[in-house]
Amino acid sequence: MGMKGLTLPQKAIICEVAPRDGFQAENEWIPTEQKIEIIKKLASTGVQSMEITSFVHPKAIPQLRDAEEVVIKSQELSDIKFRALVPNVRGAQRAIDAGIKKLKLMLSATDSHSLSNANCTTEEAQKGFSPIVELAEKHGVKVGGSISVAFGCPYEGVVPQERINDIVTRYMNLGIEEVSLADTTGMANPKQVYDMLGKLKGIYPGMTFSMHLHNTRGMAIANAIAALQQGVIHFDSSIAGLGGCPYAPGASGNIATEDLVHTFSEMGIETGMNLDRLIQVAKEVKGILGHDGGSFMLQAGPNSHLHEKPEGQVKIEG
Ligand code: ZN
Repeated sequence: MGMKGLTLPQKAIICEVAPRDGFQAENEWIPTEQKIEIIKKLASTGVQSMEITSFVHPKAIPQLRDAEEVVIKSQELSDIKFRALVPNVRGAQRAIDAGIKKLKLMLSATDSHSLSNANCTTEEAQKGFSPIVELAEKHGVKVGGSISVAFGCPYEGVVPQERINDIVTRYMNLGIEEVSLADTTGMANPKQVYDMLGKLKGIYPGMTFSMHLHNTRGMAIANAIAALQQGVIHFDSSIAGLGGCPYAPGASGNIATEDLVHTFSEMGIETGMNLDRLIQVAKEVKGILGHDGGSFMLQAGPNSHLHEKPEGQVKIEG
């Protein structure tokens, strides 16, 4: 009988973002040596790329004021592709001087989020990117684009497809070939993700799209699968789910790397990462920082850890 199974990509590529997205959400100063210690642990999980820091103004995010030092001290991890977030030319120059080979640009999908975050509209922010791209080209450094609050904005609600199309078009005109769609405050739903990516892939066949999902409302894994169904294979995630939501203190952060890898591995999708090692590192990082950001693996453990069958009868409701 011919019921066709779900066809999905056979592999996914994960970028670990805890050293940027996770650390920047920590109020208490994490000493540089401790950041390096965590980055080295992360490097032992089989991950191939990492977003290591952000070259923002030290006053804007004091936690990442040691960006140069973090990059320089991580250079011995030569198997990992590092990228850093840069908000402007000055940040790009700092990142390049420190030895970063890939920059990530970030802007907000909506003007209200952009104005509150970057003090300019989305279009103005994007116009400011061309000198960054020029500088990067001059140094042989790659540049990726990203769009924050790409699906839902805490001020404006659902983000229209046309808005995203305009931003992707402008990125394309800058010569950028990959765009990360960030669900910064966890407002996306799987149908929306599936529909938006389907349209984007139709309009921009040469563009590589990646997903940056937060689990603020428990929809991140479902959204990842919806993206996979559209053939998207690049995902950001954060160890132990670090990286909270600025509008909801205590809420879940980024999709946890160990949860995403567990889901993929249960589905037979290869990530090249070691799940047991990831869970171990998640535990250690939680120990170092004193908390996690929401991780099912830390709570329940993986499917593969079976329990001993109890003697006699144990009645479990439901
Ligand atoms: Zn994020």
